[in-house]
Amino acid sequence: MPRKKPDSPEPSDSITETHSVTCRFCGQKNNVKADYKNNDANCGRCKLPLSNEPHKKFTGLHKNDYIHPADAAALKALKAIPGVDSALKKLLAWTGESAIRVSFMASAVKVTDKQCPDLHEKLKIACKTLGVDVPDMFVQQNPQVNAFTGGVEKPIIVLHSALVERLNDEETLAVISHEVGHIHAEHVLYLTAARLIEFALNRSIAALLPGAEIVKLIVSMGIASALLAWARRAELSCDRAALLVTQDAHVIGRTMMKLAGGTFASKIDYELFLEQGREFKKNYDASRLDRFWADVMNSGLSHPFPIWRVAEILEWVESGQYADLMAKK
Ligand SMILES: [Zn+2]
Ligand SMILES: [Zn+2]
Repeated sequence: MPRKKPDSPEPSDSITETHSVTCRFCGQKNNVKADYKNNDANCGRCKLPLSNEPHKKFTGLHKNDYIHPADAAALKALKAIPGVDSALKKLLAWTGESAIRVSFMASAVKVTDKQCPDLHEKLKIACKTLGVDVPDMFVQQNPQVNAFTGGVEKPIIVLHSALVERLNDEETLAVISHEVGHIHAEHVLYLTAARLIEFALNRSIAALLPGAEIVKLIVSMGIASALLAWARRAELSCDRAALLVTQDAHVIGRTMMKLAGGTFASKIDYELFLEQGREFKKNYDASRLDRFWADVMNSGLSHPFPIWRVAEILEWVESGQYADLMAKK
């Protein structure tokens, strides 16, 4: 870059050597070096990698545009159980909205545009891309890499501290977008009921709590197992929602790799991990025995195997359905 003469009326060095890149995610203007290339720098506001690639914000996205067929089928089976909605209404009345809110306001950090502003910006990006009102979001001290969405009237998102510490900015966007996907796909009520049932079934003290009777009834009616089977499959729809926000399948893949491998993920070969996903899916489709064991083991986890999830996302991309949605006006 030629130096300007001291008396020159030409623009100053700082202008000739930098230029402005508008963040594709949040719209913030960022000054970057003249020799900047895509993904060389991160946005000052949302901290996501800067790039001149476009970022699609959907208008009029409908849940049926991306819902996984296994989610739709499991929901149909759940809704076919007589009395399901009134039983779940009774269950949700057990805790109610205020108990959920109070417990997070008291125990977790509320994310706002002043508190952890880059996390709040990522939440706003996910909501704007999918077309969802911005919900309250909290970060809670918890060593398990996880996140969830709950609520009765107003949904809230909770990120565990380990998740925020472990994932990079794009992967954090993927997880927040997955949670916003639960809101967009209208999963929140049933998902909250599923968490309550898991909570009650996993603790021996549950028998002493008010509401224990309704949990027993829900188990005896077959609602609990149908609800939990649906909840696992609902995750597959929300991984698709996360892809619709990150718009990079490998961000979802690497997030799953960290969920599967924990801190060991830095030593894992990503391509081999993808191969393992494809291999798992092949066996899962082909062998009833594999499917049986996968379902048995899966029923004890809040989210299905990361390997299964990455295989499902790869398959959705390869089917062309993702590209069709991205091309839609
Ligand atoms: Zn940004
Ligand atoms: Zn989820």
